[in-house]
Amino acid sequence: MNALQQEILELKEKKRAIILSHNYQRPEIQDIADFIGDSIELCRKAQRTDAKIIVFCGVDFMAQSALILNPNKKVLMPSLGARCPMAQMLPLDYFKLWKQRYPGIPSVLYVNTLGEAKAECDVCCTSANAVELVLRLKEDTILFGPDRHLSDYVAKKTKKQIIPVPPQGFCPVHVLFNVGDLKGLKKIHKDAILIVHPECTMDVIEIADYVGSTSQMCRFVRESQEKKFIVATEIGLIHRLKKENPDKEFIPAYKEAICTAMRANTLKDVYLSLKEERYKVILPEEVIKAAQKSLEKMVEIFR
Ligand code: SF4
Repeated sequence: MNALQQEILELKEKKRAIILSHNYQRPEIQDIADFIGDSIELCRKAQRTDAKIIVFCGVDFMAQSALILNPNKKVLMPSLGARCPMAQMLPLDYFKLWKQRYPGIPSVLYVNTLGEAKAECDVCCTSANAVELVLRLKEDTILFGPDRHLSDYVAKKTKKQIIPVPPQGFCPVHVLFNVGDLKGLKKIHKDAILIVHPECTMDVIEIADYVGSTSQMCRFVRESQEKKFIVATEIGLIHRLKKENPDKEFIPAYKEAICTAMRANTLKDVYLSLKEERYKVILPEEVIKAAQKSLEKMVEIFR
């Protein structure tokens, strides 16, 4: 542990704060976090803590979700640069326009959306539960956003008519994986299992041995008897996978699969965030209330 990490931990104790880190954060941030997980796991953790301050090391929509579920806590984002480009692809006005175009069609939004859009949809979903959630809805036509590739995956698995909103939303990291490269890696590592995220393009998903969210990938690897995995998601996850499974080998599907938004948070930002209690996540009360309903509906559907 370096001196800055030590200082952060001391400050955290003094301020009665908790540090939550997404699976894609820099390894040196993951190493000082109280909890590492995907966006929803982190929000649930935030709900259970009695800490006064939550330093949320992830991107904007995740920190907003933490606030939506914990409106009485102080949620801080270490860097204002941590803005997910995919979440920005669905501005509120545009989403409203599509809802008007398809009246009566239920809208499901992936949690990777900003608070205002969440507040406007019927129900939220995660990459882990999107397929099951859409299957449980009685309607056969669904407005789904903002990730086009997750929409395609859901359409394929559920056989329902999924209308993607926006038509071409995407995660700039998960579209980087290429079938040719992956087939090449599979040839070199014949004994490796290819695990991919559902934000990848359909041609990549089709050659995968396992498709799942980051938390599902972690569980799959932990429970698997296999020893070698090619990992098609942001490379930050490999740090966690290696720590949890020291006897297994992980090959990044593409070494440059780095989310610059996630990497905007540095250790120094985490330190300053705690010290100066910056940058406080703020949302209008009515947005918080409406977005809570969309998130609660998701939980209800699985009860
Ligand atoms: S990995 Fe993709 S979806 Fe996740 S924060 Fe980065 S850009 Fe957004």
